Amino acid sequence: MSTSFPTHVPLFINGEWVESQTSQWIPVTDPATQNVLTQVPCATAQEMASAIESAATTFETWKDVPVPARARIMLKYQGLLKDHHDEIATILAKETGKTFEDAKGDVWRGIEVVEHACNIASMQMGETVENVANQIDCYSYTQPLGVCVGITPFNFPAMIPLWMFPLAIACGNTFILKPSEQDPLTPTRLVELFEEAGAPKGVLQLVHGGAEQVDTLLNHPETRAISFVGSTHVGHHIYRTATDNLKRVQCMMGAKNHMVVMPDANKQQVINNLVGAGFGAAGQRCMAISVAVMVGESKQWIDELKQAAGTIRPGAWDDPEAAYGPQINPAARERVLSFIEQGKKEGATCLLDGSDCVVEGFPNGNWVGPTIFSDVTTEMEIYRNEIFGPVLLIMTVDTLEEAMALINDNPNGNGTSIFTASGYAARKYQHGIQVGQIGINVPVPVPLPFFSFTGWRASFAGDQHAYGKQAVRFYTETKTITARWFEDDHQSDMNMTISLK
Ligand code: NAD
Repeated sequence: MSTSFPTHVPLFINGEWVESQTSQWIPVTDPATQNVLTQVPCATAQEMASAIESAATTFETWKDVPVPARARIMLKYQGLLKDHHDEIATILAKETGKTFEDAKGDVWRGIEVVEHACNIASMQMGETVENVANQIDCYSYTQPLGVCVGITPFNFPAMIPLWMFPLAIACGNTFILKPSEQDPLTPTRLVELFEEAGAPKGVLQLVHGGAEQVDTLLNHPETRAISFVGSTHVGHHIYRTATDNLKRVQCMMGAKNHMVVMPDANKQQVINNLVGAGFGAAGQRCMAISVAVMVGESKQWIDELKQAAGTIRPGAWDDPEAAYGPQINPAARERVLSFIEQGKKEGATCLLDGSDCVVEGFPNGNWVGPTIFSDVTTEMEIYRNEIFGPVLLIMTVDTLEEAMALINDNPNGNGTSIFTASGYAARKYQHGIQVGQIGINVPVPVPLPFFSFTGWRASFAGDQHAYGKQAVRFYTETKTITARWFEDDHQSDMNMTISLK
């Protein structure tokens, strides 16, 4: 595939690109025009079974491929992704509507995870202690689990699949990717390049569909670990079903991220960063800032924030003047618009209203203009729900302590940031806030892959987080060996206790 698209998206099963025999096809549309780009299949039960069987069979050989050989595939893959960076970003921009610059960021943050997977040997090291008892040594290995599964959302079709399969496969697992049915072309290109990097047949499978195909993966006895990124209600279903089947699960879910603005912060930096983090990607980021908490006198900047937000507008992916793109589909746009209506009814003040946004030349696009509400309270539906659109809520408090209490009361805990010139305030905030990823004068603190993506509370279910060392633990099992080697003529007594002697 290049940047011209197939009429039907193929499945990748047992190292072969195959056209699905299904009768159920979902159209993939350009969110700026509604033009149909391609059709994605809901894989049949037989196709799902073949993908799982191939992954399970391939695991028997792939797990014994030496670690440096696995790492070399990642190294080759990283090079290929870099060579095809702009081409992948173009596919991604066309099917998601993201601006080209933002699409490049999506690809690049994924490449960084592949870079990290090249280091697998040092990340997969076990532990050793010599002489735990007389002439007895103890050591551990981390071994792969088997067939691992990734279920990914629409909003980062390059980065999020790349959070998952490179590390899982580098650990020695095989992997089945079920990406979002709304933008399957980017993951298709990622899988094509993985094959080109030399991944053996069967190591990675690509299947498509929705709830039914996901449930097959959650219920099949051969799948061992499930990584999910998406909305909270789907995440709960996935976590409950997969843990009920005694599988390992990690679910990265919805968010409501707050930025605390202290009055000693630099005003212009606050305004620029709030506009970027609130409206970038049309608010369709799980780490978008959706609530600005203005502390004390910083509330005086609200008018200038409104002016600055009023200068940006959405547009088509290849429009260099566009600040962001459309919502992913008409239903997502309708949902955002209904929250804007709800906010007005609930008594919040709509300072900037993007409901009637028109983009010249694109009358059918899923556009929503930048929208700002002030006078928001914690009881309002616009505060209680993840809107996932270019809608920024503003709340005012008198002190940092009040801001922290407000944020700690919100059930979500994905990301947050504080803008301040005070090291003391920043330290107090990072220590006391019950959110897993904190930016200090950084608005969207998505960690680089040598750390992990550590959302907390309602934004996450599981134990080990995505990428970094925690992902290596998630995709492996520890085996501990206690070893003694006798001298040829060694004599020992019977040991009737559990003590090592
Ligand atoms: P979604 O939950 O609708 O879909 C995610 C995946 O689940 C898709 O592959 C989809 O096909 C599948 N799915 C949908 N319904 C299902 C069902 N009933 N049973 C089983 N599988 C089902 O999410 P989305 O709209 O694609 O993505 C947006 C959401 O993802 C937002 O809530 C956002 O906050 C969240 N997100 C979270 C993170 C994070 O790291 N915490 C990152 C990105 C996105």
